Amino acid sequence: MASIQSAEGTFDLLPDEAKFWQKFRDTAYEVFGRYGYVPIETPIFEQTSLFVRGIGEATDVVSKEMFTAISGENLKTLMGGGHIKGKSQLSLRPEGTAGVVRAVAQHALVTQGGAPVKLAYAGPMFRAERPQKGRQRQFNQVGIECLGADDPTIDAEGIIMLMRFYEAIGIPTGAMRLLVNSMGCENCRPAYREAVRTYILEHADGLCEECQRRADTNPLRAFDCKKEDCRAVMAGAPRIVDNLCDDCHDHYDAVKALLDDTGLSYVEDYTLVRGLDYYTRTVFEVQVIEGMGSQNAIGGGGRYDKLMAEIGGANTPGFGFALGYERCVLALQAHGFAFEPAQKLDFYIACVDDSVRPLAFRMLQKLRDIGYKGDIDHQHRSLKGQFKQADKLRADYVVVLGPDEVARGVAKVRNMASHNEVEVPIDQAEAIYQCFSDSAAAREAGVTE
Ligand code: AMP
Repeated sequence: MASIQSAEGTFDLLPDEAKFWQKFRDTAYEVFGRYGYVPIETPIFEQTSLFVRGIGEATDVVSKEMFTAISGENLKTLMGGGHIKGKSQLSLRPEGTAGVVRAVAQHALVTQGGAPVKLAYAGPMFRAERPQKGRQRQFNQVGIECLGADDPTIDAEGIIMLMRFYEAIGIPTGAMRLLVNSMGCENCRPAYREAVRTYILEHADGLCEECQRRADTNPLRAFDCKKEDCRAVMAGAPRIVDNLCDDCHDHYDAVKALLDDTGLSYVEDYTLVRGLDYYTRTVFEVQVIEGMGSQNAIGGGGRYDKLMAEIGGANTPGFGFALGYERCVLALQAHGFAFEPAQKLDFYIACVDDSVRPLAFRMLQKLRDIGYKGDIDHQHRSLKGQFKQADKLRADYVVVLGPDEVARGVAKVRNMASHNEVEVPIDQAEAIYQCFSDSAAAREAGVTE
């Protein structure tokens, strides 16, 4: 019988990669923490209506890509021709913003006159896209959301923080391109949207069917079409930058001035519209310049001043971004990155015969309790086999216990890199771990034995 494989578009993070994912998240929380962001965890599924109202019914994410969950009970109701109540219509989250904004509204985290709420998250997102390199059905994102302030400093520090994070995990600054744009607000966007709609209708002959359809559903998305012909036609469409109201213009200029002041280079891209409906004013995207084909966006986000009200909360300005973990790994790999092996022990205890095992087990536990990573043979291998095992587990030290040594009250501690061996008193676990910690300190100081 064929063994069952993982579902299409989903991937296992095996230990070496799972360890890197942990480091990736830790680095994100550390970098974002410097800007005042604290963690939040929201459910992986939400009521479908949250995404429909928040992200927008006409977006690809909602109209084509959402995994909607149907419980056994609801399936029975559906099969019987019944109707599932709104509250029971659930979807796996295709992105993180809607859930975080819902949580902020539900728990009233933004208080009148209080400081803006700055939140960071990391976890899996789900989109029923056609899988290809860099495009998965379950993928991991790290993101932030800031609610309660519309000042351009929030946008600018958010963009700077994202670029600092990429640098911290090792994506060379020169390998990335930062694109920025403004999408306007409820005052200036409707007229602009109408102008683009008219332009699409007037140039329908040169556009694909999907872009023609977008004239009525979501005209700005026509800028996002990957087809060369459509791109050429849309290059002549009215530009948002020429249609911003004064307030949006000032806001956009202020964001750019702050980025300039920090020395961050960026490209203004008037066709950058992003796939989700909720954006207002600042939008941005980070792309990898080479080696990633069409899936070259490693992160992006923007301002969404109407989203909270859209899902039923108080009118609260917001700003956020999300970055894709898997695509960052592809970008790193394009620059020679390889995962470190997850397995790395400080020590391994090898037993010359079974008579010393109870003592070895006690010693093992003592060292683990102190905080060292260690293991022992669990399969009664020969001494040679135990050394091989210690090598495989990448142990720095092997503590050898034999009846002769035990009779003399000592254990041998072998440094696996230098092959140096010292004898230490068995009854002083301190002496053994002192031996490790001296070496650990030496390693940290860059001194090899
Ligand atoms: P978005 O929420 O579409 O702005 O996506 C933010 C980031 O998540 C993108 O820049 C990608 O790095 C990543 N991402 C989005 N969709 C996928 C996917 N299907 N597979 C892998 N990564 C994705």
